[in-house]
Amino acid sequence: MSDTPTEWAIDVQNVKKTYRGGTKALRGVDLRVAKGEVFGLLGPNGSGKSTLVKIMMTVIRRSAGKGSVLGEPIAHKPTLRKIGYLPEHHRFPGYLKGKQVLEYVGGLQGMDRTTKKKRAAELLDAVKMTDWAKTPVKRYSKGMRQRLGIAQALINDPDLVMLDEPTDGVDPVGRRDIRDLCKRMVDEGRTVFLNSHLLSELEMVCSRVAIMVQGEVRSQGTINELVQGQERYEIVIAADPARAAEFLLSALPPGAERPEGAGRGTLPSGEWVEISGTTLKIGSTQPETIAPVLDNLRRGGVLIHTVRPMRPSLEDLFMQAVTDPTTGEALMPGAAGKKKKRTKAPRAGGDA
Ligand code: ADP
Repeated sequence: MSDTPTEWAIDVQNVKKTYRGGTKALRGVDLRVAKGEVFGLLGPNGSGKSTLVKIMMTVIRRSAGKGSVLGEPIAHKPTLRKIGYLPEHHRFPGYLKGKQVLEYVGGLQGMDRTTKKKRAAELLDAVKMTDWAKTPVKRYSKGMRQRLGIAQALINDPDLVMLDEPTDGVDPVGRRDIRDLCKRMVDEGRTVFLNSHLLSELEMVCSRVAIMVQGEVRSQGTINELVQGQERYEIVIAADPARAAEFLLSALPPGAERPEGAGRGTLPSGEWVEISGTTLKIGSTQPETIAPVLDNLRRGGVLIHTVRPMRPSLEDLFMQAVTDPTTGEALMPGAAGKKKKRTKAPRAGGDA
């Protein structure tokens, strides 16, 4: 990827937003989205994701910073015509039928009658809603409304599609369909920008992600880049937890710097080691590194329960981003405010 501005679908620098009343929703956001990728912006509720999207869509104004969308400055009117937008919590009039919604949006885009009818039919088909074309929106489920919302975002054949929480309230089948649609959009040459707090969704579809916390981007890159240096092996032994540390320490090769408590030690070959209960974690993806440790365990008569290579999930990365390393507690969701109050980290396993 080069640094040429035309290669970026979105390039924002030091964007800030303070709402009336003093909420600092964005505190200097730098973000770049390459053309032709599915990019995921994730963060806890209130971290500023929608604010950023609204700034790019010129729904609200930024307080500071600069940026370009599709190579033109934010708010360049002709460029807005090349963007499709699914707002969060969108609502169509309940009395309109799905087909009418799309034709209405097509009309707003200046399409003639024949074109908008044709485009509406194509898009209803693409989002698997043809059978519901003549049903009023008020009878749609949440998932159907989201499908229709995605269809209306595509009416103008956009180069960039901004989807704010597209899978919100959608069942698993619907979510898979939406993922497939995103992939298809990229195959058609579009760039897709997704906003979501559903980490597993983003992990499955995005080529790159940014993690936003309290109005700042904490990290961005491919998931591979973000997990670099955090891949590891975990060796779990079947032993009395009270004596596990003793067994695991004695299996480390001579010359290793032994970990103390929950801290890290180092193998003679340089990799970090950590002991947690009956688990030994080794910061390596190479089987050669762990082989001597396994040999030592067996020689010492220790029963090995499992040996597994581990790669942090997007959820692990996310939890790291929202956790204060000194206290181990999660940062308050929402914009960074005057309050310094913190909450306990949410349980791993749930969507943040
Ligand atoms: P997210 O999309 O990540 O859930 P938002 O961008 O909606 O976050 O909100 C970021 C912060 O800005 C939150 O603290 C929210 O309460 C605040 N906020 C959002 N919209 C407004 C508004 N119109 N006026 C005042 N504060 C707002």
